Amino acid sequence: MSARRAPYELWPIVAAFVLSGGLSFYALALARANHTPVVLWLANGALIGWLVQKPLSRSWPLLASAFLGLVLAKLCLGDPLASTLLIGPCHALETVIVSEAIRRRFPHLSPRTRFMDLARVGVVSALIGSALCALGMMSILHLWSGADVLVSLNTLFRAHFVGMIIAGSTSLVMVTPSLRHIEPGRIWVLVRDLLLMTAVTVGVFVESHIPMVFMIYPPLLLLVFRHRFVGMVMGMTILSLVVGLVTTLNVGPFNLVAGVTPAFHVVMAQVFIGVSCFVALPIALALADQDRLRNRMHESELRYRMLAEHSGDLVMRIRTNGDRMYVSPSVKELLGWEVEDFLKPRPDLIHPDDRERIAAEVCKLRAQGGTTTATYRLQHKDGHYLWIEAFARLVPSPDGDGAMDIIYTGRNVTERVRIEQALLESQAQLRTITDNMPAVIARIDTTWRYTYVNRFVEQIFGKTPAQVVGRTVRQVHGDAVYDRLKHYLERACAGESMLFEYEVKHHDKRLHFQAHYVPDLDADGKVRGVYELTTEITHIKNVEHELLRLAHQDALTGLANRRYFSERVPALLDMAQQHNAPVLLALVDIDNFKSINDTYGHAIGDIVLAEVGRCLQKLVREGEMVARIGGDEFVVLSCDFGNVRHANAFTQSLWERLHMMVDAGVAQVAVKMCVGAAVCKDEGSVDGLMKLADEALYQAKEAGRDTYRVLTRGFNGGGNDKGNSNSHRPNEEVKVRQA
Ligand code: GH3
Ligand code: MG
Repeated sequence: MSARRAPYELWPIVAAFVLSGGLSFYALALARANHTPVVLWLANGALIGWLVQKPLSRSWPLLASAFLGLVLAKLCLGDPLASTLLIGPCHALETVIVSEAIRRRFPHLSPRTRFMDLARVGVVSALIGSALCALGMMSILHLWSGADVLVSLNTLFRAHFVGMIIAGSTSLVMVTPSLRHIEPGRIWVLVRDLLLMTAVTVGVFVESHIPMVFMIYPPLLLLVFRHRFVGMVMGMTILSLVVGLVTTLNVGPFNLVAGVTPAFHVVMAQVFIGVSCFVALPIALALADQDRLRNRMHESELRYRMLAEHSGDLVMRIRTNGDRMYVSPSVKELLGWEVEDFLKPRPDLIHPDDRERIAAEVCKLRAQGGTTTATYRLQHKDGHYLWIEAFARLVPSPDGDGAMDIIYTGRNVTERVRIEQALLESQAQLRTITDNMPAVIARIDTTWRYTYVNRFVEQIFGKTPAQVVGRTVRQVHGDAVYDRLKHYLERACAGESMLFEYEVKHHDKRLHFQAHYVPDLDADGKVRGVYELTTEITHIKNVEHELLRLAHQDALTGLANRRYFSERVPALLDMAQQHNAPVLLALVDIDNFKSINDTYGHAIGDIVLAEVGRCLQKLVREGEMVARIGGDEFVVLSCDFGNVRHANAFTQSLWERLHMMVDAGVAQVAVKMCVGAAVCKDEGSVDGLMKLADEALYQAKEAGRDTYRVLTRGFNGGGNDKGNSNSHRPNEEVKVRQA
């Protein structure tokens, strides 16, 4: 959908026709009637105001209308149509150059426009436009009527340049509302000053006796100072119209110069108008720029005031002596005081504990400048205190007396301070709890650096929290421990919760630790660190080992007990089967032990049992196992012998060595016993082995005690090898040795 263009307005088109035609006719008619060159060409500049408002593509009706006005004026004065049609585009070119230069550089003229820049662009474009126009017109006039090239170029350029500056400025003032704005109360002052300007100009220029042209400057400058652009433009218009008219009519001070042509008088008039313009214009521009800056300052002051007055914060401007030049109305809402109550310094409202600190801050700010921030307590009118966070800056005073003011902004942060204090308190509580927990509580970041650790770390790792925080796990624990922890840290950093134990050698002691690594996740579930909870479990581990030892050991003899024996035997049998090795299991039972008890007492019986146990312990070699499995019953298991013969010899040696005389202090007790040994190959069952040994022991007892029997099973060459524990006939070799 194409945007519909706004229709062309008719009245500017008509106005352009009238202005261009009228001003051209006036200038040309006056000059020709008096046989002088044109003093000022105002027709082109008069269009600038409209042209700067729209792009060139939308300006052609105005340009065409102005062109027609010029053509009509020249035709009325009897100029040939052809030369008129050729000269018209030169005028249009000048107008377009100036209007386009201004429009492109300043698309929107406003009070914020930098007038000095505007003037620079206007003057430079007017110079170029006037020069090109004059060059074009001079060429046409030279070809047409043989006019003198230099003279016509000179006068045309001056008339156009000065005319463009004056008419262009006038028309720009007319289109920029802020420039043409006159306060209602000052209209009469302007009228009065314009009348003065007219009177002085007419007075100076209608008489041809005394050259007092400088007299026009006081009223012109008065107009500029009082009425800025409007004054300058109107003053210059009056001046140029009067000077142009009287000079063309051969009147006025320039006609005092004798012996020169009327054209030279015109040149003088043009120079005078130009000089006047260049005297007044910079002053008007500088004043306009000053006004613009003052307005902006005023606007920013208004904005700042508006912000201060609508803000809930307390805003003050404080002088060196402490007086407040401005106090925002929020003081009432914030502290309950009226603005008037706050215009004088109120150190009494500062909490006594904060007074000294705040006074020092103010002194520092006044001495060093810059800014400062402080949080302190101010008393509400009701008597209670509020926490205020104040921001203060030292700035030059806008009063322009060279003093420095403090701009103060205070905000009620009571709620925040209360929360912060509660947070600090709870953090302190938490720290007290964590510091007294019998565990290391720590946080490790993703670079494996400790960011927090409680005080208990001193007791466990022998390092203070200050020595740990900021250092890496490797630096804190050393390479060896780090190598053990690394794997768990990696997994915790990958989001897993890890519970594990590890052992550390510290001062020749083995220390055991249990560590729990829990990932610290952010709101998006991303790991941002690891929480560590480490407890020392050396004591528990020691107790565990002791319990295990007690559970496996016979308290009286120190040998393995029945339970431990039963646990271990299957593994030993498996191993023997894997190596195809024979197994020997010998049951040892003290003969008539009951009667020892009965004769010497239970305590002596215990001594005997302990002595037998000690003896057995001495007899067994590495790889063999001995246990007490009953009251006076012991067992020896060996997988380390070559053949049945060796097994036999081993059993015999066992039996022989266990004959002893136990010195029980009060009595010497002779100890005898029976040994029943089972020697098997490929026997995987503990029960089978035990039964066979039991059978052998039974046979030994049956044989009258104090002897040994060996039964074998699973060796080649034997006929009765069924593993039957009831068999009384050993299948390979049975040796009975009577003591
Ligand atoms: P046998 O020659 O047939 O082996 O006869 P024995 O007297 O040794 O008979 P038995 O095996 O039945 O007796 C074992 C005795 O051992 C019975 C029990 O009072 C005694 N006894 C068991 N445990 C202990 C112990 O820890 N200390 C003492 N002093 N005696 C125990
Ligand atoms: Mg016995």
